[in-house]
Amino acid sequence: MNEIPDTDVARVGVYVCHCGGNISDVVDTAAVADAAAKNPMVAIARHYAFMCSDPGQQMIIDDIKETGVNRVVVAACSPFLHDLTFRSALQRAGLNPYLYENVNLREQVSWVHKGDKAAATEKAIRLTNAGIQRVFRQDPLESIRVDAEPQVVVIGGGIAGLRSALSCASNGLKVTVVEVSDSLGGRLTELGKVYPSGDDAADLIRQMTDAVRADDRITVLLSSEVAAIDGYVGNFTVRVQAVGTKPGGLTLQKTVRAGAIIFATGFDHYKPHDGEMGYGNQNVVTLPEFNALLAGAEGKTLTRNGREIRSVAVVHCIGSRQVEGVHEPGPDGKVNEYCSRVCCTSALDAINRALDRFPNLRVYDLYKDIRTYGRGHEDIYERTSKRGALFFRFADDDQPTFKANGNGAVLTVRDVLTWNEEVELQADLVVLATGMVPRNIDSLVEMLKLPRGTDRFLQEVHPKLRPLELANNGVFIAGTCQGPMDITESCSAAEAAAVKAAILLSKPTIELDPFVARVDFAKCTGCNDCLGECEYKGALETFEENGRPLVRVNPALCSGCGACVAVCEPRAISIAGWSLDQFDAMIDAFVADTTEVTAV
Ligand SMILES: Cc1cc2nc3c(=O)[nH]c(=O)nc-3n(C[C@H](O)[C@H](O)[C@H](O)COP(=O)(O)OP(=O)(O)OC[C@H]3O[C@@H](n4cnc5c(N)ncnc54)[C@H](O)[C@@H]3O)c2cc1C
Repeated sequence: MNEIPDTDVARVGVYVCHCGGNISDVVDTAAVADAAAKNPMVAIARHYAFMCSDPGQQMIIDDIKETGVNRVVVAACSPFLHDLTFRSALQRAGLNPYLYENVNLREQVSWVHKGDKAAATEKAIRLTNAGIQRVFRQDPLESIRVDAEPQVVVIGGGIAGLRSALSCASNGLKVTVVEVSDSLGGRLTELGKVYPSGDDAADLIRQMTDAVRADDRITVLLSSEVAAIDGYVGNFTVRVQAVGTKPGGLTLQKTVRAGAIIFATGFDHYKPHDGEMGYGNQNVVTLPEFNALLAGAEGKTLTRNGREIRSVAVVHCIGSRQVEGVHEPGPDGKVNEYCSRVCCTSALDAINRALDRFPNLRVYDLYKDIRTYGRGHEDIYERTSKRGALFFRFADDDQPTFKANGNGAVLTVRDVLTWNEEVELQADLVVLATGMVPRNIDSLVEMLKLPRGTDRFLQEVHPKLRPLELANNGVFIAGTCQGPMDITESCSAAEAAAVKAAILLSKPTIELDPFVARVDFAKCTGCNDCLGECEYKGALETFEENGRPLVRVNPALCSGCGACVAVCEPRAISIAGWSLDQFDAMIDAFVADTTEVTAV
């Protein structure tokens, strides 16, 4: 338990920010500062237009240096934005940077209580009081330092993996690419010309694999997979095994030490259920199969299995944007509600390529929405519509139906565009614009306990603030393992993930936040309840001291999530900077009568 600092020694400075009106238009910031000033723990309380500005920070620094403020509460915007700003201000003033507390008056107060200034101000006072209580009990903390191995393991050798590898190498890192198949390029090896540029996918892959092979900082392990990952950010040990080199088993191939890991394991194609929009019928193919048919087509007519194809009906959203109760759920009992993003443009691009080669082909396009969202993609749609493809739009809960018909099929669609007219379309070939599904990487997910979203793709920490990081420190995501993306987006994500890894490993040591679990051995009974709750492999371990079973923390692996704290009956575990006593005091302050000042 933290010692409660002496009021004479702990002098809290409280700084309430107007956020240029963002906060002060709703919260009476002067009243919040006045209320804080009455607290005997508080040495000084101010309010100011922009605490994050240079003059705002200088105000804090001057107070620390000149008035002996030695703990700081900044009541302002989100800690995500400015925790580092204010911690570094404390550091510049010679104070331990963790003797600081952010109170979020913007997202938690002014933005959500716009219509009621009095209540918003009262809530702001309560939150600020709680912050004062916490920082008052705060002891100085030191960030955790771990060595940084300047090497990265990239799992997956598709375009995202290759792009990441090249970018990491150009930033001076050694890279090992682990690819499960026997070649590089991933799904691009299945594609011919790719939208929007019309580049040949094979050329793209060739250029990239040539660059990868020419770079002696990059090692490629084909037909390989990750067997085990141990360690932590800066110091992972990745065991790689060759796939299927021995019947019934794997052969140890290599152990790589890495400071960071980039996941680039890509996606799988959605496989329709038997009978889904005619799937299983000989005249029904998926979009990747249609692409392959076009790539291999010769002569002046489009033929398949020796038969001429004169008409094609493309049906969108197969396996994407599914609706519960309308579509058959997958093995997990859920439907794919997400949009696969690339299939609309890809299907229209395939139609254009087909019409370039076979101008007399009759094309029907059945869709519920067309989403050609990327730069230049709308041009592809426009081109398709100008070339005589006929578009039919169906409603979410009114799917087209399929009926086999001799050497072709009849699709019946109720067309929203013609006032729900029921239309029957005869087509020689039906093309199902199938979407993307997450690749099965269960063993890797289990190995690192990786977070997945409700769509089952890997889930970033935060879509805007940390879009390429997984919750596991030092593990990044690139490309379609995170969700449907086209090549341009996959490459952007891959470059960005590589830069994140390079920044992380740019110095010999990595500094980690000190907010991790710590065990008071005097109270620990060795019951191991905490181990059962811990989601982070290796974060807690048992050991014996003088025959007494105890638990200790590996700070580099602990995320500070607090799951262990919640199950520790003797209250032996707490999170540094977030002790149970701090929580108790914060809650007491929050519920206290705001007319009375909560003291120690
Ligand atoms: C039908 C269709 C057409 C498309 N056409 C276009 C187009 O014209 N233009 C465009 O911009 N985009 C297009 N796309 C999107 C494009 O295919 C993707 O953006 C791109 O392939 C994503 O690359 P990636 O590296 O993320 O994944 P992938 O291409 O899937 O590569 C992943 C790699 O990881 C490997 N891997 C998987 N699991 C493991 C493991 N456990 N260990 C080691 N290796 C592993 C795989 O073998 C693979 O090599 C299309 C997509 C579809 C479905």
